Amino acid sequence: ANGARTPLIAGNWKMNLDHLQAVAFVQKLHWTLKDAKHDEDSVEVAVFPPFTDLRTVQTLLDADKIPFALGGQDLSTKDSGAYTGEISGAFLSKLDCGYVIIGHSERREYHAETDEIVAAKVQAALRHGLVPVICVGETAEDLDKHGASAVPVSQLKAALENVPASAEVVVAYEPVWAIGSGQAATAEQAQDVCAKLRDVLAAELDADAAARTRILYGGSVKAANIAGFMRQPDVDGALVGGASLLIDEFSSIIRYQK
Ligand code: PGA
Repeated sequence: ANGARTPLIAGNWKMNLDHLQAVAFVQKLHWTLKDAKHDEDSVEVAVFPPFTDLRTVQTLLDADKIPFALGGQDLSTKDSGAYTGEISGAFLSKLDCGYVIIGHSERREYHAETDEIVAAKVQAALRHGLVPVICVGETAEDLDKHGASAVPVSQLKAALENVPASAEVVVAYEPVWAIGSGQAATAEQAQDVCAKLRDVLAAELDADAAARTRILYGGSVKAANIAGFMRQPDVDGALVGGASLLIDEFSSIIRYQK
């Protein structure tokens, strides 16, 4: 991490926690951090619940003044119309979502999301004032064939097509082999790829965008390995899946400096 960029710890719930469980979880997480006297300005916390939870979580954050950012896990390339089952970025903005995850490896794999679809979703997010959290990462096979950075670099280049240098985006480097496997990348591996992704930001956007954009690491992040990632100069936070569903584990990740 670099002092100029506010660290971002993001919890991607995936298809877990219904809207009632979501309320209990967010309240408990908030109180756990409060009890630990966590300094809420030192790190930004964001949660990414399923769509059906968003309204409930938004209401809770607002009513209890809980300082977590909110985001969707996906959005449509379209803004409205006859697209059964799709969710518009306009709806997410109306629910006070600040962020939206785009191109998660599970969407790329199970929903055949191509680099072109990811780029169109990035444009849709920006149209609606949402900060896209652009996920990139290599599979185990890519790693064998092309090394760690080639695929994430080309995915990020494609996603940034037509993105203005002034836009706020977040990049998440998530090696597919590390997601949900318990086998995280080493801090050095993460740093190496994140530095190359920062070079892509400089080349495709500009030097200022590269300096201010947060790049997260994701893939089997837990309380025991977060500090190592956060010590790297180009890793500005984490996108956390499984461990974001465990109160003690996730609050320890948020409090990685302690
Ligand atoms: P994991 O998932 O932390 O469970 O590995 C990360 C992600 O998919 O964003």
